[in-house]
Amino acid sequence: MNKITCHCGRCCINLKIEKIYRTLICACEDCRQALEWTHKKGGLKPNDLPKLVYVDSNIESFSGLENMRAFQLRKGSKSTRIYCKECFSILAVDHPNYNNERFMFFENHCSTTLDTSLKPNAITYLDHLPEGSKEIIPGDLPQYRDLDKPDQWEEFAALLEKTASPSSIREGKGIRLHNILDKIGHIEVLNLEPGAPI
Ligand SMILES: [Zn+2]
Ligand SMILES: [Zn+2]
Repeated sequence: MNKITCHCGRCCINLKIEKIYRTLICACEDCRQALEWTHKKGGLKPNDLPKLVYVDSNIESFSGLENMRAFQLRKGSKSTRIYCKECFSILAVDHPNYNNERFMFFENHCSTTLDTSLKPNAITYLDHLPEGSKEIIPGDLPQYRDLDKPDQWEEFAALLEKTASPSSIREGKGIRLHNILDKIGHIEVLNLEPGAPI
């Protein structure tokens, strides 16, 4: 069975899936801020272009709930991130757009048995890349400078649509990420200003 585990091994999500759904590269300030926050607490140091890995929210079982915590960057944030309170790996990210059918995690910021080498569909929010960043931007991927601009979002949504495949989730069966979030209960709100350094 495939799984996602934190780096210290206390938290584990067992998945009923054979492969990941899609990957993206994201330069947005929120992904970076979240990863900088966990890094400051003891998690792995992020780079400026993290790889986002999307999977069906098709969960067999999970363990280490007592070590799982959830946070949002600020009031009104859409993304909720689950991390391990001991090693500050980020295990999963929820967003309303995922409809509780899929969730996301950051490659290298947790461990997984899944093959995450799938080529990213795009690079998003390149305008957020810090000035002077030394990251090498892959030249063979569609680039979206700022998805908050409606025309870019529309184009990006069309790309997602074109590269979509059906979810492996059947109605009412199995555990989904929201079940874990419900069990964690409290969501910590960090009250960080957008783009503010940690
Ligand atoms: Zn851990
Ligand atoms: Zn992002």
